[in-house]
Amino acid sequence: MMTPQSVLRDYFGYSTFRGGQETLIRHILAGGDVLGIMPTGAGKSVCYQVPAMMMQGMTIVVSPLISLMQDQVTALRAAGIPAECLNSNLTQAEYFAALDAVRAGEVKLLYAAPERLLTDAFLSLAQQIPIAMVAVDEAHCLSQWGQDFRPHYLEIADFLAKLPRRPVVAAFTATATQTVRDDIRRLLGLRDPLELVTGFDRENLRWIVERPERPSKKYDALLRILRERKGKSGIIYCLTRKTTDEVCEKLRADGFSCVNYHAGLSAEERAAHQDAFIRDEVPLITATNAFGMGIDKSNVSFVVHYNMPKSMEAYYQEAGRAGRDGMPADCILLYSGQDIRLNQFLIEHSDSENERLSPEQREAVRQRDVERLNVMVRYCNLTDCLRHDILRYFGEDSPRHCGNCSSCLSGAETADATLEAQKILSCVYRMDQRGVHGGVRLLCDTLQAKETRQITALRLSELTTYGIMRDTPRKTLEQMVNILISRGFLNVESGMYPTLALTARANPVLRGQERVEMALPAQRQKQPETLGAVPEFTGGEALFERLKKVRSRLAAKEYVPPYIIFNNATLQAMSERMPATESAMLEIPGVGRHKMEKYGDAFLQAIRDYRAEQAG
Ligand code: ADP
Ligand code: ZN
Repeated sequence: MMTPQSVLRDYFGYSTFRGGQETLIRHILAGGDVLGIMPTGAGKSVCYQVPAMMMQGMTIVVSPLISLMQDQVTALRAAGIPAECLNSNLTQAEYFAALDAVRAGEVKLLYAAPERLLTDAFLSLAQQIPIAMVAVDEAHCLSQWGQDFRPHYLEIADFLAKLPRRPVVAAFTATATQTVRDDIRRLLGLRDPLELVTGFDRENLRWIVERPERPSKKYDALLRILRERKGKSGIIYCLTRKTTDEVCEKLRADGFSCVNYHAGLSAEERAAHQDAFIRDEVPLITATNAFGMGIDKSNVSFVVHYNMPKSMEAYYQEAGRAGRDGMPADCILLYSGQDIRLNQFLIEHSDSENERLSPEQREAVRQRDVERLNVMVRYCNLTDCLRHDILRYFGEDSPRHCGNCSSCLSGAETADATLEAQKILSCVYRMDQRGVHGGVRLLCDTLQAKETRQITALRLSELTTYGIMRDTPRKTLEQMVNILISRGFLNVESGMYPTLALTARANPVLRGQERVEMALPAQRQKQPETLGAVPEFTGGEALFERLKKVRSRLAAKEYVPPYIIFNNATLQAMSERMPATESAMLEIPGVGRHKMEKYGDAFLQAIRDYRAEQAG
């Protein structure tokens, strides 16, 4: 008899479910709708693929991107699961072959783009065969409040209504905000769904924020990061197309093999660059946020953000493309104050996307974007545990100290800084009384009695707070201001220039009712330089390399990306345990019964050869 466990083992090669997966699967099998909120890489697909194998009838998977569908279908077939996809990339012959297979009841999972659902051909097909489940991937595309609204997603509900029998509906998204969840439930017509937030913690990811002294030092920081990770696969996200091109060019000039990716390139160029990266022909890609949705390249070993992204949702999704194979991986954000201005500019100029909205809605969207940006600014200035901050944002509980982020690893010790905080905050207050709304620079200049033209013009030397922090080193002062921003005592408000404003949280500090502790700069100098790269593989590296060659050979033969055969974590487990028999091989995570039959011998043989050489 098939059980969720046996399907997981036989088809996917995994012995245990991850947190939340089994709960969702059992609920689906009992006939209930679900809304799974899981970040990229947590394993959403298993949640509908496993029950799909066990249910009577076919499962339709609605997914936004053709590249994503093809990738999934390739992976499923490699695992022995009958899957098809219907999209505009198919030739007519392929399309009809797929339809025939569906009609014959041979297909368990059918992937379709949302715009296809209500076409006559698809609808009549769906009305003729039993549909067990409709799984909606990237369900946030339903919501105008999501990052990626796709009007065709609204047609899913119409499609469901036209089916003779309502199937189970399972929706999945990585977006955790309440508005988006509400929209999904309502617009999809979910019936009393089991809603589960799970898997946001990615233990293998190390979170690092670096703040290069000057924006011009960013590229140097990037070079250092890449040199520490030679030969490893990484994505470098930039905020604009221009930066994407520039960084790619510089890296090439510095001897790195790198491609670029953004919406300004032709479709052919984009496809070629993406392919080269996915197939491990080129280890590095610089990209805007146009890159990556649905890309399941599992051996990305690091993701660098060359600019601060616009929101935690965007950051977590992009950074989360690192380490999907479960190997240790780094998510590094290179932050400079300029990033705030760049993002504010993008917010103020994003109107073209919002043409459908009324002026009020547009303002609400703008406000929301500003708030999201503030969350990121706080994150970038945080001296407390980064992982804890991220997880709290997504609604998951976690310890206050993770031991694997740049804050936890910097060994910073906190000290009382209440007096300093009061001085800084009261200076903002005094400036505000004068009607002066300045940024970090003007605030620090005032506190340190710098005789700049601006200070003279605004007569800030008359303030009682003028010069009261003359003796504090400038860098220390700036870091203190940043900490106050990151803790929410000060807000960064957008306008022509970012300006600082007190929040309600500042009151108890100003009144002496709340103490403020800070990790002082002298102690927090141990920045990520000392963190080093992810440790190299220990035993079995020679074998690992050899198994990779076997994999490349098989991949080339079948014309699929290498990770479709087995991912790096699987190959590494093989190289460490060196299984000699079929049953030992089946113990390796990622080796299911079907892949064993298809590929097992080639790898067993390579291991045997290796053993023989070592022995002889
Ligand atoms: P998502 O769709 O949530 O982004 P995927 O479904 O693609 O993530 O899963 C990410 C990776 O985790 C895949 O390589 C998948 O095979 C693997 N995975 C999923 N579930 C498990 C599990 N229970 N045990 C081990 N690996 C798993
Ligand atoms: Zn931490």
